[in-house]
Amino acid sequence: MSRPISAPRGTRDLLPEDGAAWNHAEAIARDLSHRYAFDRIETPLFERTELFARGLGEASDAVEKEMFRVSGPTASEEERAEWALRPEPTAGIIRAFVEHGMYVRPGPLRVWMLGPMFRYDRPQAGRYRQFTQWDVEVIGDPGPMVDAEVIELGHRYFAELGLTDVVAYLNSIGDATCRPGYRAALVEYLAARQDRLTDDSRRRLRTNPLRVLDDKDLDPEVAAGAPRSVDHLCDACRAHFDTVRGLLDGLGVRYELDHRLVRGLDYYTRTTFEFFVAGRRGQQQALGGGGRYDGLAELLGGRPTPGIGFGIGIDRSVLAAAEQGVEAAVEAPLVAVVSSEAGELGLRLAAAATLRAAGLRVRADGSTRKLGKQLESAAKLGARWAVIIGDDPGTVILRDLDEHTQRELPLSEVAAAIG
Ligand code: AMP
Repeated sequence: MSRPISAPRGTRDLLPEDGAAWNHAEAIARDLSHRYAFDRIETPLFERTELFARGLGEASDAVEKEMFRVSGPTASEEERAEWALRPEPTAGIIRAFVEHGMYVRPGPLRVWMLGPMFRYDRPQAGRYRQFTQWDVEVIGDPGPMVDAEVIELGHRYFAELGLTDVVAYLNSIGDATCRPGYRAALVEYLAARQDRLTDDSRRRLRTNPLRVLDDKDLDPEVAAGAPRSVDHLCDACRAHFDTVRGLLDGLGVRYELDHRLVRGLDYYTRTTFEFFVAGRRGQQQALGGGGRYDGLAELLGGRPTPGIGFGIGIDRSVLAAAEQGVEAAVEAPLVAVVSSEAGELGLRLAAAATLRAAGLRVRADGSTRKLGKQLESAAKLGARWAVIIGDDPGTVILRDLDEHTQRELPLSEVAAAIG
C-alpha cells in the first residue's frame, strides 16, 4: 500500500460537516454585497510580483516575507520571481480598474469578491497559508460618507452572522500632505529609544517606521508615549476623520479609536480600521480590516483615483461564530427516496427528480438492501422524511422519520405536504 499524502502545511480541508457554517458565512457576504449594491469582480489568483511590491510596498511583511511564488516548469531563476499568488485582493482589483480604463464608467465603482488569498506565513491557529476573504471596494469616491458606509457594512456582516460584541477599531494615518510630518516625528521619537525596540522594529524604523507601531512586542511605555497620527493630521484629513466619526455615531456603529492602527501596507491613507471581538486583540484575532487608499491607483500607473475597502476573513469569522455558539442556518430538511424492490431504481431516480424540481432537498437510495435497512440509513443520514415508492409510481408513502408516522399521497403533493 502506498503512503497517504497530507495537505500542505498551513492549508485546511473544508469537510462536509463544516459546510453549513461556511455556506452561512458566505451567503451573508453575497447577500450583503447585493443589498449594498456592489457588483461582482474576479481577478486572477496570481499576478505579477511587481504589482504587490509596488502596491503593498517592498517593506510590507506580505511582500518581504510572505510571497508565494509561482512559475512554470521551465522558468529561469529570474522568471521564478515574476509571479506570485495574491496575498490580498485590493492590488489586483485596482490593477484591473486601471487596465480596463474603468474611470469612464458612471461611478463610484462598487465591487466585491470572495475567494482565497495566500501568504507564506508561519501557520498557527487562525493563521493559514491559504485563507478566504470577502472583500468590498468603493473606487472613485473621496468620502467621507463612503468610509462610514463601508465600516457600517463590515459591522453589519458580523451582526448578521450572529456574532455579538464586535468592535471596529479606527484610526486616521493622514495623507501625502501630513503623513511625512508625522513620520518624521515618529522616527525622531523611536530613534531616541532604539535600545528598547525589537530587532524587527529597528529595521522597520528605516524601511517602514509606521509599522513599528504594529509590533506586538513593542515596549508598552514606548507605545504609549509615541506621537499619534491623529495629532498630526492636516486640516483636510482632520475634517474628513471628524465627519467619518460623526457619521458612525449617527449610525450607532460601535467603534473605538486605536492610535496604533496603521495597517501593514503602504497604500493606506486617512481612514484605517479593523474588526475584533471586544477584548480579543491579538495578531491572529482580527476578523477583518481595511482602509482608504487614495494613492494606490497612481502607484499602479493609473490616474489618481480615491478608494476604500475592506477584507473580512471568512475562516476567522466562522471560527468566532463557532466559539460564540452561533448555530449555522439550518439547511432545508432532507428527503430520502426509497423502495422495496431493487428493480425500481429508475422509479426512485425519477421520483427524486420530480421532488427536486419542486424545490426539495433529496437523496435517493441506490442500493438493493431491504426497505427497513434503507429507512435506517436514511435516518442515520439525517433525513427528516422518507418517500417510499410502491407499486403505483404516482402514489407514494410519505414517512415522517422523526415522528414515526406515515400516510399515502400522490407524489405531486409531497412538496406541499412537507413545505
Ligand atoms: P489583512 O489585510 O491582513 O488585515 O487581512 C484581512 C483579514 O483577513 C484579517 O482580519 C483576517 O481575518 C484575515 N486573514 C489575514 N491573514 C490571514 C491568515 N494568514 N489566515 C487566516 N485569515 C487571515
